[in-house]
Amino acid sequence: MKADIKSMNQEELGGFLISLGEKPFRAKQLYPWLHKKHAESFEEMTDISNKLKEKLINSCEFTVLKQVSVQQSRQDGTRKYLFALPDGNMVESVLMRYKHGNSVCISSQAGCRMGCRFCASTLDGLVRNLTPSEMLDQVYRIWRDIGERVSHVVVMGMGEPLDNYENLLKFIRLLSDENGSSISQRNLTVSTCGIVPNMRKLAEERLQITLALSLHGATQEKRQALMPIAKKYEIHQVVEACKYYFQKTGRRITFEYNLLGGENDKDEDARQLGALISGMNCHVNLIPVNPIRERDYVQPDKDTVLNFKNKLEKYGINVTIRREMGRDIDGACGQLRKRFSERQGEG
Ligand code: SAH
Repeated sequence: MKADIKSMNQEELGGFLISLGEKPFRAKQLYPWLHKKHAESFEEMTDISNKLKEKLINSCEFTVLKQVSVQQSRQDGTRKYLFALPDGNMVESVLMRYKHGNSVCISSQAGCRMGCRFCASTLDGLVRNLTPSEMLDQVYRIWRDIGERVSHVVVMGMGEPLDNYENLLKFIRLLSDENGSSISQRNLTVSTCGIVPNMRKLAEERLQITLALSLHGATQEKRQALMPIAKKYEIHQVVEACKYYFQKTGRRITFEYNLLGGENDKDEDARQLGALISGMNCHVNLIPVNPIRERDYVQPDKDTVLNFKNKLEKYGINVTIRREMGRDIDGACGQLRKRFSERQGEG
């Protein structure tokens, strides 16, 4: 396989150029074209000689995702993209516009093997991990598409990022590199279903990113009914790993809790959740579930959501209710891709 040039850091790029018989300082020229100006082809790179361009075209893979479709919300400007990877697999990414800046939600895998009951991305299993360049390019294509800086990135799209650990780490380092797009690690959030050994490993990497933990149930029993991975990593182990992450990084944990009507939205659930995490330096994000066609989960009504929030706040916990973005264009994560592949199958 050819070398994937957009997955290389500046040092690796230098080494690669040497292997082509070039001077390593050319990396200083090439790297910003890839990671700062988000070039779509070598042709664009005006200060690179034709001879070098030709060598590069012959010797490496230049990963650029193809925009298959984009839908824009009339309510809040949210844009939902479907991108084709070089091998034709599809992933979804979302742009959300906030007062504090443009935030992009990216996918880390094509499909997913975690099997969470309420999630559309996992219905057809895992196809493959994304490379660092494929994760980066979701951000880069959107950046170019809107002609504005992307300031925040969340890895909350399709896939389990900690199931693609090495590529994720490379992605984080490239994205936050000051010679590249220079997105602050403090503006980067990685969401996990709770793969404990990799959460602990991540805590040791000297990063400043936010870790979000998908909790969804406040007891072992409830959680494992929704998330098969919970059978492997018990709820208290997961919470311990979150505490360890805070200890090591000083970064406050975000707990995500999908509210599923009648399943995990009762007073008792709020009490159990409060008891589980009270005293931790954390934040809870309540997310009324986005129902998918393949399952019967429903959103709780507004009063139930507010009541749940109030109960939780009694434990001194900081709670927000996720503002629904792009409700009019929606379909939950993974639905766009699934619909598309179903249409292809029909066609
Ligand atoms: N695998 C990672 C990241 C991708 S999922 C994780 O589990 O965190 C990102 C978030 O979207 C998770 O909190 C997940 O529970 C949530 N999610 C998945 N399907 C959803 C749905 N139908 N409605 C609301 N949230 C959903």
